[in-house]
Amino acid sequence: MSNASPAESRPVRARLVTAVVVVVASLVTVWRWDGPPPRAAEAPLGEFSSARAYATLARVLGESRPHPRGSVANREVRRRIELELQTLGLEPRVDRTSAWRGGRGAEVENVVVTIRGRYPTNDALVLVAHYDSVPTAPGASDDGAGVATLLEVARALVASPPLEHDVVVLFDDGEEAGLLGAQAFVVNAEESSRAGAVVNVEARGTHGPSLLFETKHLGWTGVRAIGALERPATSSLFSAVYERMPNDTDLTVFGEAGIPGYNFAFIRGASHYHRPSDDLEHLSRASLQHHGDNVLALTRELAGRPEPLAALRAGPRAVWFDLFACVTIAWPEPASFLFAFASTALLAAARRRRARGVDGWLVAAGAGWLLALALPSAAHLALAPAFVASLGAALSTVPHRLAAGVGAGLRLLACGLAAALLSEVGLGLRDAFLG
Ligand SMILES: [Zn+2]
Repeated sequence: MSNASPAESRPVRARLVTAVVVVVASLVTVWRWDGPPPRAAEAPLGEFSSARAYATLARVLGESRPHPRGSVANREVRRRIELELQTLGLEPRVDRTSAWRGGRGAEVENVVVTIRGRYPTNDALVLVAHYDSVPTAPGASDDGAGVATLLEVARALVASPPLEHDVVVLFDDGEEAGLLGAQAFVVNAEESSRAGAVVNVEARGTHGPSLLFETKHLGWTGVRAIGALERPATSSLFSAVYERMPNDTDLTVFGEAGIPGYNFAFIRGASHYHRPSDDLEHLSRASLQHHGDNVLALTRELAGRPEPLAALRAGPRAVWFDLFACVTIAWPEPASFLFAFASTALLAAARRRRARGVDGWLVAAGAGWLLALALPSAAHLALAPAFVASLGAALSTVPHRLAAGVGAGLRLLACGLAAALLSEVGLGLRDAFLG
């Protein structure tokens, strides 16, 4: 409208600003979600380099063929993992044991190695990836990426000053056969009795961000450790969704044993999952770099602290999400009730004041932000596309097109929610400064 009064044009301006903020925030998120730039083979030795990890994986996989538990190819992969560890000056051990779980049983061969910390009496941090594949896939991503991540992390740890706790690295067998390797480790291995915490590394696709999609038995102390991640892609909501899904990883076994844990996976490119195309060519180097950055940072954060890892359980449960993969925002769960109460009261006050023509911008803005905190699901939807990605994985059993449609719908809903929240704040600021 060309003859709009200034008063009428202001809401339009506020909404325009809102739209720009939403678009910029989305672009920042998409950019951050592409994962970190892969680091070259010449990167400093204390850092994680996806170029080195990728080369290691190529050596470990050899001819890149399926290598399910019990196969000759799997024994060769296991042998090459041992060789890589020995080259680092470490002394890996192979545990050959029978494992039973959920009515399935078999012989498994786990590779276990310990990187000594300064205080051997401390409880140990256990890093886990499985080296067996399904019979239908060479398993470069599932879980070759996890194996290569742990080998490169081990190399970086060996090249750095020792941490406070021992770091036990477990390359387990028979995950695809029913979590048998993890079961064997938890029941039989000497290291499991002094495991204070566990980090599991997985893949359910070939690219995308390395999501911290599941945690076990973490109190406020354990959740605060997530702050060590440089490019966090995480939400307490993922765990809540994942717990209701039929999927399992090795972390399930450690969780049953009551050990606090963190679980990382990338899940984009799920059409290659358990297929012949889960090969080296399809594995994203950015995802590998993201896996490595996450695991190395969390390992140093956890095993570098003087207190027992059991302390990760301490404190109340927490709610958290990442903001644009830049920073993790967390608060103790009981505070959510406070946020909900405060924001409801503020919103009611703002409405009453507006009805009387009183300027309620501060109240409205405060209410908007507190509401964002009080409704973690709305904030997750609006600020973290990770939620959409994890829901996409949850929906992977339904036809692909339908899942994509639902994903797109949720994304639109998320943008709408973000726009609504921001426009409330924008309008409040407009009233304050222009009105
Ligand atoms: Zn797997």
